[in-house]
Amino acid sequence: MSTQAPDNMSHLKDQHDEAMEVAEAARETEWKQPSYAAGLFMGRVQPELIRNYPEPTTEQVLEGEAMYEKVRSFIEEHVDPLQVERDAKIPDHVVQGFRDMGCFGLKLPKEYGGLGLSQVYYNKIVALIGSYSASVAVLISAHQSIGVPQPLKIFGTKEQKQKYLPRLAAGAISAFALTEPNVGSDPAKMTATAELTEDGNYYIINGEKLWCTNGTVAELLIVMVRTPDKIVNGKPRKQISAFIVETNSPGFEIVHRCEFIGLRGIENGLLRFKDVKVPKGNLIGKEGMGLKIALTTLNNGRLTLPAACGAYFKQCLNINRDWANERVQWGAPIGKHEAVANKLGKMVATTYAMEAATYYAAGLADSGTADIRLEAAMAKMQASEAAWHAIDETLQIRGGRGYETEQSLLARGEKPYGVERMLRDSRINTIIEGASEIMRLFLAREALDPHMKLGADLINPKSSLGAKIKSFFKSAVFYSWWYPTRWLPTFLWKRHGQFRSFSKHMRFVERASRRLSRNIFHGMMFFQAGLEKRQMFLGRIVEIGAELFTMSAVVSKALADQEKSPNDETPQQLADLYCCLAKRRIQQNFRELWRNDDVKVRYVAQRFLADDYQWLEAGIIEPEAIALRLLEQVSQSSAA
Ligand SMILES: Cc1cc2nc3c(=O)[nH]c(=O)nc-3n(C[C@H](O)[C@H](O)[C@H](O)COP(=O)(O)OP(=O)(O)OC[C@H]3O[C@@H](n4cnc5c(N)ncnc54)[C@H](O)[C@@H]3O)c2cc1C
Repeated sequence: MSTQAPDNMSHLKDQHDEAMEVAEAARETEWKQPSYAAGLFMGRVQPELIRNYPEPTTEQVLEGEAMYEKVRSFIEEHVDPLQVERDAKIPDHVVQGFRDMGCFGLKLPKEYGGLGLSQVYYNKIVALIGSYSASVAVLISAHQSIGVPQPLKIFGTKEQKQKYLPRLAAGAISAFALTEPNVGSDPAKMTATAELTEDGNYYIINGEKLWCTNGTVAELLIVMVRTPDKIVNGKPRKQISAFIVETNSPGFEIVHRCEFIGLRGIENGLLRFKDVKVPKGNLIGKEGMGLKIALTTLNNGRLTLPAACGAYFKQCLNINRDWANERVQWGAPIGKHEAVANKLGKMVATTYAMEAATYYAAGLADSGTADIRLEAAMAKMQASEAAWHAIDETLQIRGGRGYETEQSLLARGEKPYGVERMLRDSRINTIIEGASEIMRLFLAREALDPHMKLGADLINPKSSLGAKIKSFFKSAVFYSWWYPTRWLPTFLWKRHGQFRSFSKHMRFVERASRRLSRNIFHGMMFFQAGLEKRQMFLGRIVEIGAELFTMSAVVSKALADQEKSPNDETPQQLADLYCCLAKRRIQQNFRELWRNDDVKVRYVAQRFLADDYQWLEAGIIEPEAIALRLLEQVSQSSAA
């Protein structure tokens, strides 16, 4: 059994501490506006934030619908999703068509040449495009959700906005470059650098950026790189800064265009910067703000990905409604067999709920009345995972046809439903813009934040005695009223009547939210500083919080739908089913918080990493051996 040498262990611990320090320094720490989701983790349900489902204004609807219809006609007429798939390229006339319609400036302010659409309509249009060709939707979304426009809108100076936003709105394609070969979820390991020239007028950028979507066709990039360390409290602290880079700058090179299992039309590559000279004025914000800029951009960018997942849900419903009615096996349409009906019922309710959560967050982003960073992350995490599940189930319901490509189905005269394309295209959504595991860590950190603010020094072995004493008194005052009140029965909060037929579900949300907050507190007491490493415990906490948020959003949406169409009961049926399903998952997660197999799972995983179960791999040609042989062949042929 191999073990890690002690000096290597301490090196890894240093790396971990540094990663935490960098991530912590880049966190958005302030809560300037209320957050419904943040309250759930503290046992505080705020009905006033959830009861009225946010709706777009009449002006937003008129402008948004007009653009929606324009885009719909364009894609139906000019986009061939199978051609994009075959050629692994979006044709130039399609890109130009989107430029001409103003799609590269959908949500850029009108004063900068954009269309100024709301987040809700931006989402709807990206989802519409995605329902036809996900690769095309990614072109538009990578440019606007995370590319140069978004960070510039939030952090740019007036001059920077005036210089770049009109160009971006007119169709100068942009991209977001954070990832490097050794930097995925952990930006502390970033190696690309920018150094100020002696005259102080330019920065010189060196390094590589990997998997940059739109990077192979972009005119402009936002690039996150390291600038010289700063001394903070006597110790050097890594600085990451964000720059706008013109891709026609000397020294910029596209090394490789990456190919993926799905999204075959996206332009994504490995980019190299060799002494690329960038004017000082292209620094966004200040030196050292780069990671905060990147993470804030992602906090907002995440509003769109769940909407794109919504398009997959809707496609699944449409395909299943047709197929599960039409396909007759064993004397009945397959949708009537209970095993298939089980999948269908859950899929319909989940589609409605995911849409409710996604557009709740987007609607609030438009109204500007709430902090939506947790809601956006929860919607992203849940929708990307649930969409993958829905597509997988759809493939199963389609049977062999689900596994067949649309080209092949078309060639033999069957309806070419592209379920396998959806499966390939959608898989990336649980990895990009915050992998699911990282979303859980992000949400867990925010869930613990109010407690950390009070008691961090108490459990931090490095804190001084003075800091510990101060923290103790602060905590004692707070918890002496907070903790007992988290045990009070729900009927004391007589606020559920406004949720009408859903009051029982909202009572559950209230009760579960207080139980959740107590469990967070117990977890902190039990695991103390080690809680940060208990990812299975934290994962369950986050899943409970996210489910409670989605239950609340779906109730709010169903009530809004009921008010609009009192005679239509279908939204209530879906909301009710979703709440019932969510409750069971929540109860299971509560049960497993303290009674689980985590210790055994961790133990086997560690023994596995130490090669103790290698015998289980006997009987195959090892993928690693095949990979090494292929690499050798490539290096021999390039040497020849
Ligand atoms: C198609 C595609 C498009 C992309 N577009 C862009 C783009 O436009 N711009 C850009 O900058 N990047 C982009 N990326 C990169 C993407 O954001 C990263 O792949 C993602 O951040 C994950 O990083 P990684 O792949 O290096 O995985 P790693 O960080 O190496 O992680 C591997 C696995 O370990 C898990 N993991 C890592 N750390 C932890 C931890 N502390 N605790 C628990 N689990 C952990 C991860 O969740 C993941 O499951 C793209 C990638 C792809 C494939």
